[in-house]
Amino acid sequence: MSTTERDTEAELVESPFPNPTLDDDNPPYWEYCKQGELRYQYCTDCERFWFPVGPVCPRCLGTNFEWRPVSLDGELLAVIVYHRKFFPNAELPYAVGQVWLKEGIRLSAQLDTEGIPAEELARVGAHVKVRFERRTSGFSVPKLVLAEGGD
Ligand SMILES: [Zn+2]
Repeated sequence: MSTTERDTEAELVESPFPNPTLDDDNPPYWEYCKQGELRYQYCTDCERFWFPVGPVCPRCLGTNFEWRPVSLDGELLAVIVYHRKFFPNAELPYAVGQVWLKEGIRLSAQLDTEGIPAEELARVGAHVKVRFERRTSGFSVPKLVLAEGGD
């Protein structure tokens, strides 16, 4: 992925959705997002990514890891379209998609629906790209967009 494909220069957004909650383990994850990268903990003992972020590998219980970058491309697994407001300033409807990144990580994030007919949203298996919504709060949060030309 070239830097020109990253969305780090996008304008700041006043999001109606909650900001991430920082804990002891996840600040690096959000820092990489600010740089336009998705990085996940990669266990250097059993050589696998783990997610969600946490202090130990859920597979081998090891604590040795590196933050390794993953692709910003995935395959759409599922979509949920919300027609009810759980957040007062959210515009309805909005969609949340779940994608498989090729590294085997399942990521859920808001799916950009602008200009996309509802029937297009449900295309399981479609090629989806991860972009970052730069918020006025200082967080950059992953967001999904359907790739041009479908899969
Ligand atoms: Zn492990």
